[in-house]
Amino acid sequence: MGYSLSYGRMNEILKELQQNYRVYAPRRWAGRGRYSDTDLIRYGEIAAVEEVVHDEKSDFSPKEIIFPITQPLFYFTEDEYRESRVDDQGLLIFARPCDINGIRRLDTMFLKNGDSEDSYYRRLRDKARFVLMECGTGWDTCFCVSMGSNRTSDYSLAVRFLPDHLLVEVRDEAFKRYFSQEREVEFTPEFVTSNPRTVRLPEIDSSGLLRKVYDLEMWKEYNSRCQSCGACTAACITCSCFTTSDLIYNENARVGERRRVWASCLHEDFTAMAGGLGFRATPGERLRFRTLHKVYDYKARFKEEQMCVGCGRCDDRCPEFISFATIINRLSDEVERLKKEASQEVAGQ
Ligand code: SF4
Ligand code: SF4
Repeated sequence: MGYSLSYGRMNEILKELQQNYRVYAPRRWAGRGRYSDTDLIRYGEIAAVEEVVHDEKSDFSPKEIIFPITQPLFYFTEDEYRESRVDDQGLLIFARPCDINGIRRLDTMFLKNGDSEDSYYRRLRDKARFVLMECGTGWDTCFCVSMGSNRTSDYSLAVRFLPDHLLVEVRDEAFKRYFSQEREVEFTPEFVTSNPRTVRLPEIDSSGLLRKVYDLEMWKEYNSRCQSCGACTAACITCSCFTTSDLIYNENARVGERRRVWASCLHEDFTAMAGGLGFRATPGERLRFRTLHKVYDYKARFKEEQMCVGCGRCDDRCPEFISFATIINRLSDEVERLKKEASQEVAGQ
């Protein structure tokens, strides 16, 4: 079922929705971009639908709404602690198909990766509903079609922004009452079917081949290029690494709160251990880890899909212009070369 609405009417419905939901969307933060004369597009609460930046790709994903950059877990005093709480307000999030698919990857990492669920993620995730934003033609760094994440049916509402009105699809029964007075029209959202950028995924089908992939020379090239800044992982909808940190309120070190804070596998100290040990000493080794996590390990463990959804934000954010799409294609070429060499060796025996 679809509806045609003016922006004014949509804002009236938004006000009704805000009695039950906090509404988040990509918003413009003027002058806060990478350079002083550029804007930042990131998620924030909106009061009116005109605030939604629908015709540009956001610099950051919506993951920070359900997996905050910094999040109190519990508060402690001398001899007791209390878990942090969340309110009952729902979360209504305007999101692209790739991001909705990316949140499914986060669900897997936080809720299905081991014997118990992450309750801090669960309590926010259960409150979240999505308003799908049509992408039109997509953007030049997207490769969602190659990753199969250009489509989704996992949304409550879908919206097409037109110059003087909006088309809205209502899939979720819980939202139908908000639109009962509106003019019905035929509308279902369209999805991007091709991107200018494509990737070929590596087919790593044996542990012997994986060992050779570890030793590829291509990783060493990134030792001088990658700055280990972690900008790519902060922008990534599917990156879920965090650390914990205690915030002490005053000079009494026994009173404060424990927070979880985003971390990055690209940071030099990510694997730091007591005694000065670390598992991935160079930027190239860390980038190799990240690459294989996104296009090999996750699927090897959970079977259904690769972790990367091809949003292309890592390419957009990297200050060294390192392209993850290029890395994936280079890796695929190397894997094919290794396979060919192995079959020639067998044929020559
Ligand atoms: S690895 Fe890059 S392209 Fe893939 S989901 Fe993360 S930010 Fe998007
Ligand atoms: S790949 Fe780019 S964005 Fe990511 S850590 Fe390296 S320099 Fe930073």
